[in-house]
Amino acid sequence: MSIYNFCAGPAMLPAEVMAKAEAEFRNYQQLGVSVMELSHRCPEFMAVAEEAEQNLRDLMAIPDNYAVLFMHGGARGQFSAIPMNLLGQGKALYLLNGQWSDSAAKEAERYGQVETFDLRQGKGCFSLDGLGDTSDYRYVHYCPNETVDGVALYDIPEVDAPLVADLSSCILGRELDVSRFGLLYAGAQKNVGPAGLALVIVRRDLLDQARPETPSILNYQVAQKSDSMYNTPPTFAWYLSGEVFKWIKEQGGVAVMAERNRRKAQTLYDFIDASPFYQNNVAAAFRSEMNVTFQLVDEGLNQRFLKEAEAAGLRALEGHRIVGGMRASIYNAMPQQGVDALVAFMTRFAEAHQ
Ligand SMILES: *Cc1c(COP(=O)(O)O)cnc(C)c1O
Repeated sequence: MSIYNFCAGPAMLPAEVMAKAEAEFRNYQQLGVSVMELSHRCPEFMAVAEEAEQNLRDLMAIPDNYAVLFMHGGARGQFSAIPMNLLGQGKALYLLNGQWSDSAAKEAERYGQVETFDLRQGKGCFSLDGLGDTSDYRYVHYCPNETVDGVALYDIPEVDAPLVADLSSCILGRELDVSRFGLLYAGAQKNVGPAGLALVIVRRDLLDQARPETPSILNYQVAQKSDSMYNTPPTFAWYLSGEVFKWIKEQGGVAVMAERNRRKAQTLYDFIDASPFYQNNVAAAFRSEMNVTFQLVDEGLNQRFLKEAEAAGLRALEGHRIVGGMRASIYNAMPQQGVDALVAFMTRFAEAHQ
């Protein structure tokens, strides 16, 4: 029986990448040691690091005036690093559309003046209407894909300050115009690689604005000047992320991922909308292609649904504890067959219980 893992994060990685990593796990490039046993400064690892950065640059068409940093501490590390590096003595604006943008704003408040603008209009709709002039802010932060809520903002907000976006659950899932942003960041464990690593793509003119007390490992300029090797970087996570970048390139790049992701999400949403047994309350224009949340109309069947899904090889469908219900995370690594298997199971389950 095939196992399909719908975990929101750490999430499944491409099967081909896992097989390659397994094959070279204890003997990287015939060196007789694992890649995780190499010095981060030896030529073999330096090659891994540089190739990973170059492939990410190619995949996202990152312009030369942006630095790419491989940092520690996941996305939440960046919730602190961003205000420490960018806020100075000024103020920041956080757009709110779900759990993660709320959390990012709360963390930033510890470092200075933070204002918020709630995009939630009710009925699963979101709007920037009423957002005034933003030129007074040091930056504007938002989260294009709210992993917990299953909500996405596909239009990039028009603002007059550097725009900062948390791409943790949508990086490389569809094309993005990097030049519209001051800074992009993502924890690796959803669409890229192992947990702990954070990718930061930052416009170079924003590198040198950190407050003096910023911890060196969170300081963008320190990271950039040391090629993200100020201290020992998470080498294995860096290597495996690099393998995922290669895999995406081999598949045909981000445009191909985007096409597949659209089709997977459409399969699931179309099924949910057509079924009286399941529902999704997000307005169609704001539905996430990465995290499809849904509820059983009869919530009394939730535990049974999860148990039977697990037995059918469909793992980790429980929604986040804060919002309840179900969630199928279908990042780049999830094949269409996994979604088809889920729809087949949901069909059988509905027939058996209605
Ligand atoms: C998972 C997630 C985070 C938290 O990532 P960590 O690496 O655990 O800190 C932040 N933002 C979004 C959008 C996420 O999906």
